[in-house]
Amino acid sequence: MFNNLEEIDLLIKQHEAYRQQCLNLIASENYSSQTVRNYLTSDLGNRYGCYAGVDLTAREYRGNRYIQELEAKTQKLVGEVFKADYVDLRPVSGHVAGIATILGLLSPGDLVLEIHLRDWGHGMAQLMVGAPHFGQTLEFDDIPFDQNRIVDLAMLIGKMQECRPAMVIFGGSGMLFPEPVAEIKAVAEKMGILVAHDSSHVTGLIAGGVYPNPLDQGADIMFGSTHKSFPGPQGGFIATRDFNIYERVGNVLASLVTSHHLNRLPALAVGMLEMKEFGKAYGEQIIRNSKTLGKAMEEAGLTVIGATKGYSETHLILVDVSKYGSGVHISKILESSDILCSDDFGQLDRELRIGTAEVTRRGMEEQEMKRIADFFKRLIIEQENPEQIKEEVNLFASKYSGCRYSL
Ligand SMILES: *Cc1c(COP(=O)(O)O)cnc(C)c1O
Repeated sequence: MFNNLEEIDLLIKQHEAYRQQCLNLIASENYSSQTVRNYLTSDLGNRYGCYAGVDLTAREYRGNRYIQELEAKTQKLVGEVFKADYVDLRPVSGHVAGIATILGLLSPGDLVLEIHLRDWGHGMAQLMVGAPHFGQTLEFDDIPFDQNRIVDLAMLIGKMQECRPAMVIFGGSGMLFPEPVAEIKAVAEKMGILVAHDSSHVTGLIAGGVYPNPLDQGADIMFGSTHKSFPGPQGGFIATRDFNIYERVGNVLASLVTSHHLNRLPALAVGMLEMKEFGKAYGEQIIRNSKTLGKAMEEAGLTVIGATKGYSETHLILVDVSKYGSGVHISKILESSDILCSDDFGQLDRELRIGTAEVTRRGMEEQEMKRIADFFKRLIIEQENPEQIKEEVNLFASKYSGCRYSL
């Protein structure tokens, strides 16, 4: 139990000092600038801004004079960055944005094709069908991949023709290469199938123009998180060019979220301005770092997925460590050396997901990727003592305490 402020301060300080000296390679996390952090704390965090449907002026609370303008201007800015005509910022996280998309656009009995959890899917529909209510109204099947973790276009089209889904959701948590959104849209349009893109992981890369914009490729809707490759405050969003879709999802959102987190809006706007100014340089460095890291890992003797395709076109690589132990086990060994990355949360338990967004933001480039691969080699293949390597990791990580690409 906490008894006073000092005790709370102490834990925050301990956490921050610890994470500062860790090498954070968790692909779903990032390092937001001090500016973004400063704009996260204001009176807005204590106010209600709920509105009916999608009409920003239909406020249910009084005292929203400036909140309304702030939300409208943030929506406009996000819309400009994602080239969307309509944006909803009420989802408190990417997951909520996805649930609203499914509930708003589908009818009882509909089938969703999305990436299976075992292929690093997030399980938007897959997890919903596990709940009694949705289990009776929603069906799920998976999007097929080839051995490079690239969507198998021919198989997917075959599946669409055979199973007649109502929606295909691209985007997962282990995305290495862009998906065939345009090709699938061409088929889906004729069959009346909706195409959605869960951009949670690649939001920052899309903002920087280094990953294809799903709306440009014909996706009916994109949604996701604002805190993964996009270095903003935690939260979610929906973006579309179709008013009808916007309205249907928005109507559901009003029933899923009543106190949307208003304090996040100015911080998100700051993040968007940062990406407008630095997003391209940031994104290009991230991808160079991923490719360099993939190659260095392979040269170190590890098995990297997608090696024949250049390892990655995103902020992450996937390494198969099954020769040395389970993913969970190896990620815990790495953690004991203060190297943080993800295993696949108990699915096939063979791969590690290693992200480059945060280390890029903190100033690391190609040279540093080789050093990181060397840590992996020494820990996983040569099985050196993690305690000893931890000291080197701490020294190395502490040198990159800045925050690049920020206002
Ligand atoms: C992280 C993630 C989400 C959920 O986002 P939250 O902001 O954590 O709710 C949804 N979809 C995918 C593919 C993700 O990786």
